Amino acid sequence: MTRAFNFSAGPAALPDAVLERVRDEMLDWNGTGASVMEVSHRGAAFEAMAAQSEQDLRELLGIGDDHAVLFLQGGATQHFVQVPMNIAHGASADYVITGHWGARAAKLASQVCSVRIAASSAQGGFRGLPAAGDWQLDRNAAYVHITPNETIHGVEMHGLPDTGAVPIVADMSSTLLSRPLDISRYGLIYACAQKNIGPSGLVLLIVRRDLLSRAPDSLPEIFRYDRHAAQRSLLNTPATFSWYVSALVFRWLREQGGLQAMAQRNQAKAAALYAAIDGSGGFYRNEVDPAARSWMNVPFQLRDPGLDSTFLAESAAAGLIGLKGHRVVGGMRASLYNAMTMAGVGQLVDFMADFARRHG
Ligand SMILES: *Cc1c(COP(=O)(O)O)cnc(C)c1O
Repeated sequence: MTRAFNFSAGPAALPDAVLERVRDEMLDWNGTGASVMEVSHRGAAFEAMAAQSEQDLRELLGIGDDHAVLFLQGGATQHFVQVPMNIAHGASADYVITGHWGARAAKLASQVCSVRIAASSAQGGFRGLPAAGDWQLDRNAAYVHITPNETIHGVEMHGLPDTGAVPIVADMSSTLLSRPLDISRYGLIYACAQKNIGPSGLVLLIVRRDLLSRAPDSLPEIFRYDRHAAQRSLLNTPATFSWYVSALVFRWLREQGGLQAMAQRNQAKAAALYAAIDGSGGFYRNEVDPAARSWMNVPFQLRDPGLDSTFLAESAAAGLIGLKGHRVVGGMRASLYNAMTMAGVGQLVDFMADFARRHG
């Protein structure tokens, strides 16, 4: 058994129990005599799985009838464009930029709608959130786009802004399912699966139904969220395997006690790692404003960047993988999604202390 503790930012670790179940069902899924990858998405077995997964997700997040749930493809990046195509309806959209992904979302949206930057923390190097008073929101905007967790910069919004009647659109790719949410406060949530949900290839969308009718008549059917909703995400062949694995993750989350339990664990994991960084006497540092530190992605730098490659080699040899930081910020990054256990974080913290002792 050589399974490592995997701190990859994405595609990221999945729960062992889910992978074991996938292995066990690989040759004969649900009595079909075939794997889930080899059967029709229009068959009874797949349709039952799809319906159950939506119900499990609705129960986990408390999603009511006001919101449709979609299981689409294209990665979060495609939806940077597809969201404005569907719901900007000729008005301009406000974007709040708190890191790399929000900036990408605004840039790509500007190819199909008029984009206003309502606030940005770029000046501070994305080490915190723009002060609430500095948000210049347009009351007539089609929506306000936020990135509640910036995966690369490790900056997370631990509350929601008041945007009045303007719907909030949130790219929750690296934080959805990490804690309970008040879904009624969001117009549209989207998240690629490969961070905190399941394998890549799948994008979850939770869309307030009244926004579905905003799509212009000229928008081709395959891009239309209203058509996908009407066909329960079976307008064309969905990402069947990713959907199935994600459905197993939803079941696993329910067995773990739901999102309240995950939130407690995630907060405790992050607190342990930040304490180790802050308590290292400057050997390690995380420069994010403590009020905006992410529970999911913890970037950290070594005081001596000359030790980076040694840190990566030694940590990998100790069974701790995926710790290389994103090239935009350098250094290290530990991603602590739902599948990362407290035991894994404990091993990382112990390794870091030992490494600092030997190289300090
Ligand atoms: C990973 C990530 C993306 C990009 O997702 P793709 O599926 O590769 O397009 C977008 N936004 C956030 C917040 C991410 O973490």
